[in-house]
Amino acid sequence: MTALRTPYLPSGTVYGTLLNFQHEWALWADRMTQPPYQTAPRAPVLYVKTANTFCASGNPAPVPKGVTVLEVGASLGLVIGDDGVPTACVLLNDLQLPHASYYRPPVKYKNGDGWLGIGPRTVPLEVLGGLQALATLKLQVTVNGEHRQTVDLSTLRRDATQLLADVGEFMTLQPGDVLMLGTDALADGTRPQVQAGDTVEISAPGFEPLVQTITATQPAQTPVVRTKHHTPPQRRARVAWAGSVHEAVESDGQLLLTRSPYAGQRVSFDDVTWLPPLDPVAQPRTVLALGLNYADHAKELAFKAPEEPLAFVKGAASLIGHRAYTRRPTGVKFMHYECELAVVIGRTARNVKNADAYDFIAGYTVANDYAIRDYLENWYRPNLRVKNRDTCTPIGPWLVDASWLHERHGSPMNLALQTTVNGAVTQRGHTRDMIFDVPTLIEYFSSFMTLNPGDLILTGTPDGVVDCQPGDVIVTEIEGLGALQNTLIATP
Ligand code: CA
Repeated sequence: MTALRTPYLPSGTVYGTLLNFQHEWALWADRMTQPPYQTAPRAPVLYVKTANTFCASGNPAPVPKGVTVLEVGASLGLVIGDDGVPTACVLLNDLQLPHASYYRPPVKYKNGDGWLGIGPRTVPLEVLGGLQALATLKLQVTVNGEHRQTVDLSTLRRDATQLLADVGEFMTLQPGDVLMLGTDALADGTRPQVQAGDTVEISAPGFEPLVQTITATQPAQTPVVRTKHHTPPQRRARVAWAGSVHEAVESDGQLLLTRSPYAGQRVSFDDVTWLPPLDPVAQPRTVLALGLNYADHAKELAFKAPEEPLAFVKGAASLIGHRAYTRRPTGVKFMHYECELAVVIGRTARNVKNADAYDFIAGYTVANDYAIRDYLENWYRPNLRVKNRDTCTPIGPWLVDASWLHERHGSPMNLALQTTVNGAVTQRGHTRDMIFDVPTLIEYFSSFMTLNPGDLILTGTPDGVVDCQPGDVIVTEIEGLGALQNTLIATP
């Protein structure tokens, strides 16, 4: 008797790798030195396939209204085990909208619901003969039973070992994360195309095939439920204290622990380690971040204000808490903070209208979205070497309840922001100056992807970013939300 087995779904963040096949690299070689790219990418060009894209083998992937075709991206994913090293592999189908440019493509080209087909089972690396043996694998792609592509893993630019080493230079893969080795183009530079009604199968020796049907059926609109707000704690924190993690609320300048057996215990701010004030169960968490969302900052960086939100996706593992330390890499010339209003999604949101958007927000917090300009490259920028580094996204101290903030400040669009470096004000702004306000952003993202409880939107930063050095104490503060403190340290 065959026991029913639950299909595998990733428990962490899934990272895709662009331009990692020799053949596709050669196709792009002439364009790499032309505008807007100017130079070939140096670091691995990564992107995130968010949790809404996960689609277990056998399930349908929708094409959005008005879209004719999706492109198939057969790939192999390295599944990271408890020790932080890959322990298994899985077949993947990285579906995307066709796009001719790799210069800041919108998130909606890669992150539609269901656009990451996931093989039914992972296969232990030891069964496959280890990382080196992956180069002997060939993935076969068929559409409606007709062979369309062979993806030859002996032709990677960075093989699995090299890719892991180069990614590890700037970020630590977490248990449950998946790193894709890349997807290849056909001889003419396109990828196999599919439309509604097609069935894609991706197979490789030793793996159960990944099967995905393409459908025109759209995900449902999320009904608006006008919930009566109870009175939740206004400012909630998560802290480590006395050897375990606790939930707490602010009470008269102290932390009041709220969960048994410590409920009622008061603790000083100085006696705890502050963690990101987010529900740890909401994993894998989608972290969307806006570039150039304040007109003054866009001007400062000599860019025209964007006509569509300019967004990118971060992995959740770069998040750290209040009063933590962020590493400045040795030898870099320009590393700056970015004080940002962070929106925490409270309910599943799909096709939400601007006027209903506030009903889908749990609360707000402060984020400091550090960037290292030295590492900016014009490929899928801002690239993850800049934006996804370990320790580079402090967040907190509090999760401030949305209804509490709305009652006191009208809306999140009515808050002053400021940053101080060693006590001196270096950045001032106001959320009313956002180009795309919070309801517009929720309407925009939920028009092509499902947002889930616990997902984050970092809404961009105003004018006034300056270079900071090891030893500097950076405080990013937003009216009503509190002051997030971070200290820069040198990378050992
Ligand atoms: Ca930012």
